[in-house]
Amino acid sequence: MVTEGTIKKEVVNPKAIIHKRFGNKAIYNIEEIQEFASNGCPGLALPQKGPCLYRCSLELPEFTVVSDIFKRKKDATQSAAEKALEKLSDPPVEDPSDQLVSRLTYLFSDDFYSICHPLSGHFRAALQREGHLNGFVPVFMMPVFDSKISNLCKAIKPEIESKPLEIMSMIMDAAARLSDTVVVSKEHFSLRRTSSYPPEVLQSVEIACDPKIYVKAIRVPYMVEGNIETLTLDVSSNKYYMDAIAQELGAADASRIMLSRCVGKASSETRFYFKAPKADLENGVYLNARASYLSGQDIYGDAILATIGYLWKSCDLLHEDVTLRTYYRLLMNKLPTGIYKLSREAILAAELPARFGTRSNWRGLYPRDILCAFARQHRLPEPVFSLIASNDISGPEENIRCEVKIFSKDQNLILFCYPSDSFKKQSEAIQYTSLKALSWLNDYLKKISMHQEELTLTNGNGIDIDVYPEHISKEFRFFSLVHRSWSGFEANGNKLLAVNDDVCSYNVEGPESDVFPTSGCLVCVCYSVTLVNGAENELLESNEEFEFELGSEAVNPNIEAVLSQMGVGQSVKFRVELPSQELIFAANGDPARTLSLLSSGECCLEFSVTLVRVTEPLEDRMEKALFSPSLSKQRVKYAVDHIKQSSATFLVDFGCGSGSLLDSLLDYSTSLERIVGVDISTKALARAAKTLHTKLSANSTNPVPCSGIKSALLLDGSITTFDSRLYGCDIGTCLEVIEHMSEDQATIFGNIVLSFFLPKILIISTPNYEYNTILRKSTPQTQEEEDSEDKNPTKPCKFRNFDHKFEWTREQFRMWASELSEKHNYSVEFSGVGGIEGVEPGFASQIAVFRRVCELPNCTDLAAVPYNVVWDWIRTNV
Ligand code: SAH
Ligand code: MG
Repeated sequence: MVTEGTIKKEVVNPKAIIHKRFGNKAIYNIEEIQEFASNGCPGLALPQKGPCLYRCSLELPEFTVVSDIFKRKKDATQSAAEKALEKLSDPPVEDPSDQLVSRLTYLFSDDFYSICHPLSGHFRAALQREGHLNGFVPVFMMPVFDSKISNLCKAIKPEIESKPLEIMSMIMDAAARLSDTVVVSKEHFSLRRTSSYPPEVLQSVEIACDPKIYVKAIRVPYMVEGNIETLTLDVSSNKYYMDAIAQELGAADASRIMLSRCVGKASSETRFYFKAPKADLENGVYLNARASYLSGQDIYGDAILATIGYLWKSCDLLHEDVTLRTYYRLLMNKLPTGIYKLSREAILAAELPARFGTRSNWRGLYPRDILCAFARQHRLPEPVFSLIASNDISGPEENIRCEVKIFSKDQNLILFCYPSDSFKKQSEAIQYTSLKALSWLNDYLKKISMHQEELTLTNGNGIDIDVYPEHISKEFRFFSLVHRSWSGFEANGNKLLAVNDDVCSYNVEGPESDVFPTSGCLVCVCYSVTLVNGAENELLESNEEFEFELGSEAVNPNIEAVLSQMGVGQSVKFRVELPSQELIFAANGDPARTLSLLSSGECCLEFSVTLVRVTEPLEDRMEKALFSPSLSKQRVKYAVDHIKQSSATFLVDFGCGSGSLLDSLLDYSTSLERIVGVDISTKALARAAKTLHTKLSANSTNPVPCSGIKSALLLDGSITTFDSRLYGCDIGTCLEVIEHMSEDQATIFGNIVLSFFLPKILIISTPNYEYNTILRKSTPQTQEEEDSEDKNPTKPCKFRNFDHKFEWTREQFRMWASELSEKHNYSVEFSGVGGIEGVEPGFASQIAVFRRVCELPNCTDLAAVPYNVVWDWIRTNV
């Protein structure tokens, strides 16, 4: 910011002047302003955490002044000091028109010239202007950079706010009353001092002699077909930067240029500059959709986006380059998923997750904060959350649910999200509901950019979101014009190239490892994304350590897919079609090279992903940490004992997952000849196939205990539908599966398996809810889990795994299993693993063993073969 050749200046700001005069007798008190919104639930007031705002009061011996409200403490103190200075120099005037005049008097005073103020820089720079414009300050700068002026104009005529041309004439009329001191140029919409500043005032702020300063900016043509381009502005110190901008926009001089409010961060000086429309008629024709969308104001004609301006803290001109990356990041920030991507600094890899598992597994900005940021980005009022103590009890301690309402700028309800799910903690309920609303908005916005014609809206998912189509489509009317290629990202950016759809065909590199991630794990990857064009490439994005919960859709789906093929330490490379420009430029640091690669032919993206680390879900950690052998090993042993006792030859594992049971069975010598696994997760099945294949195909010189196995089969299908290939097996296992289905589905499975599949023996295991207290108490927790723990840690916790739809007490399981056994003529016995028989609170994993009482009838429906064969192995070397 400070450029070579700039002469160091003494900073003279209002606060400094007050200090000189009053020293310690000036007492500043800064007050933080937090807005609280009341909500539907009495007793559950919820602070609306927007950005913090500050107000400062300044006590002087004679009087006290209070500043306006600011985002930064510094601005508040300066504003208080400035108000005090004004009060000291001038007796208060009541009439706002008179106040406007006296404010102008102050602006054209010697004092104002040398203090640091966002507007005073324009006064100093105006003296650098050549010819007839020397000393003239464009009127439009005054309300933009002096909040006092704009507030007074509003006080005089409230409806004027959105009419900059009227504000200008109001200020010029006021200036006309100062004919002794101020010259009004009607032709140039500018004001100038009549007399020149005294030499000592001019000397107090010496302008550096001609250091050359260039700053990059972006041109946004009003026609949406026009390309966004970069340009360079000459803002050297012997010039007025507004004239440079005027020249770029083809305007005669700075007085014809209007400015938007700050775009993006409110504390930045990033604004759109555009030519003032000559007449109202022109407006509609030249509306610049992209600039209007980004700034939330109507902007006409071509616009320039630049970061330039004067601040309170220094008399130097602040200037920063605005690149294509800046522009596309501003666009990203308008999308729920974009806000999330930016918060993770992972534009190409991250996606807004589909679920909020636990606070400790969530990475990046929290859903509630994203929702608030989204509202702010679109200048909507803060979302209104309501917490509701629900009577509908799913568990005695889960009784808080949350609703959220989103309103339009003119206070119409546009979205109401009221999921019925309840939680133990307020914060979880809020995050859950926020994510629901965000996911809906994200889908909605993708759809608008896909179908540019009128959208017919279905009401959310029909159950828990109400949408008000007229209001919401009005609010996002520019969206489809601006994010033209947005939906294309889904279509292209995720489409694999060079490898077919078969997940097995990724090329995994690196040493074999036996640590695999499964759904619910926290995985950490190292990745890079490169733009590839033939032999040339350019790195777009990389991350040494990128963590996310597997199965939550928090990353590009291809990354999630390759992880099912990888062990810790292994790497995979794959290529996808190009995503939208929006994403490429938002990610990339060097647009020049990217542009040249993109323009010279066929490009694609190459992802390179290495699995660095896997942290298992709480359930697995508990099962390993607290039991020896681990609970899963104990379940396998339990099944093996039954296989041996019954001399079973044909086993079916219902919900086999990644094959841990089938794999471990092969380590025992049993009577088994035929084993089958069924699951609905193709990823899990792919992994099962890989491990079983390795083990079963081990060469005959190295005999394995499982040599009795003649065939092994993995099937993809739901165990709630019948497949005749599994009919009448000797033993069926269904370990830790039913809790992953809804209770209804679990019962459907129970009925189907005992009336159609008809195994001789069926072993079903599921967690014992009552045991959770013990697990939770004795499992090493992560810091975050501890932090989020309530004061009352002995309460039973929620489920062991985010994917569990329920966990039953011993009583609930007993009821369920007994009913099934009676209905289908099976006997049933209960036992379990982990814990001791008869000792409270029972086993960690409870098990029901069903035995068929009748003989096996003939299979009635041999044609039922709905499952797909994923992998089929038959022993050939015997
Ligand atoms: N039995 C395995 C896996 C338990 S995880 C073990 O003990 O390690 C639960 C498994 O149930 C998951 O792999 C999931 O894909 C599977 N599952 C859930 N619903 C299913 C359904 N309707 N049909 C088949 N498998 C299902
Ligand atoms: Mg489970």
